[in-house]
Amino acid sequence: RLFNEVQEAKGNIRVFCRCRPMNKDETSAGCTTVVDFDAAKDGCLGILTGGSTKKTFRFDRVYTPKDDQVDVFSDASAMVISVLDGYNVCIFAYGQTGTGKTFTMEGTEQNRGVNYRTLEHLFEIAKERSETFAYEINVSVLEVYNEQIRDLLASGPSSKKLEIKQVSEGSHHVPGVVEAQPNNIEEAWSILQTGSNARAVGSNNVNEHSSRSHCMLCITVKTKNLINGECTKSKLWLVDLAGSERLAKTDVQGVRLKEAQNINKSLSALGDVISALASKSSHIPYRNSKLTHLLQDSLGGDSKALMFVQISPSDQDLSETLSSLNFATRVR
Ligand code: ADP
Ligand code: MG
Repeated sequence: RLFNEVQEAKGNIRVFCRCRPMNKDETSAGCTTVVDFDAAKDGCLGILTGGSTKKTFRFDRVYTPKDDQVDVFSDASAMVISVLDGYNVCIFAYGQTGTGKTFTMEGTEQNRGVNYRTLEHLFEIAKERSETFAYEINVSVLEVYNEQIRDLLASGPSSKKLEIKQVSEGSHHVPGVVEAQPNNIEEAWSILQTGSNARAVGSNNVNEHSSRSHCMLCITVKTKNLINGECTKSKLWLVDLAGSERLAKTDVQGVRLKEAQNINKSLSALGDVISALASKSSHIPYRNSKLTHLLQDSLGGDSKALMFVQISPSDQDLSETLSSLNFATRVR
């Protein structure tokens, strides 16, 4: 009951905050933690902003460094099921580089994240319902870098420029994009690996490149009700956003400046879209960035969105942490 009320009030957008553990470098440098998890169970997060001042932020869920991938997915899984029921869904991770966006979405081989668990869950439920429904699951992996879309499943260097086309009301598509059709979770995993490996191609520093681009996994589900013949099609976006940090002034020149401006532009466009939705504005500015334009079908209307705000516990990152939490507040 409460869950539905909260969803109503926020135009179907929920916000979860996840704090990563302190890392070895921070511990050995004597960093202290600025995060207070005393009321984490109630969705409250305290940030010690200096002296004895504490600022409190509220979320639909707060994950402490002790919460693992299973804990995180258990709260996101309901959204995943709604895709099989015909809803469009969007799940994305926002935050400064190094706070665990990729850990949450992609995860590691030993600690798989939301992307893998989502596909695994979809295949499980599809199997359970196979007497009544036939499902077709398609997967595309895109990267948006400097306002250009790249197909991470395309073999060889893709020469064609990818654009977004509206095929019908509430349905956008990227013509020419590779749509893989995994039949089981093993095949899906290998597609995810292909996409992940392709991010490295053509860049000399993979981590740096990935922190400046949005990695977008799109899962399309076609459902056929075997009893009445009814068909539906829905879309799920899983997005590992570019790092939200502002660059040091000394770095801001040339290519870096352009990258920074494009990241800024797309992340603020995302914030603008979400706050326009929350305030029930008549104009939702989806077209202001490739990111929001791609997500259009899954943000707003009766679609459901979930944002992970990723933060660092360290005092060194305090100002970026506050800026991420403020972004999240704007969205709520
Ligand atoms: P981002 O994608 O935001 O730049 P990463 O996901 O690459 O950040 O995380 C940075 C480092 O912190 C990685 O080594 C990652 O494995 C680790 N890490 C992040 N979040 C967690 C967590 N919740 N538990 C354990 N390790 C984490
Ligand atoms: Mg990353």
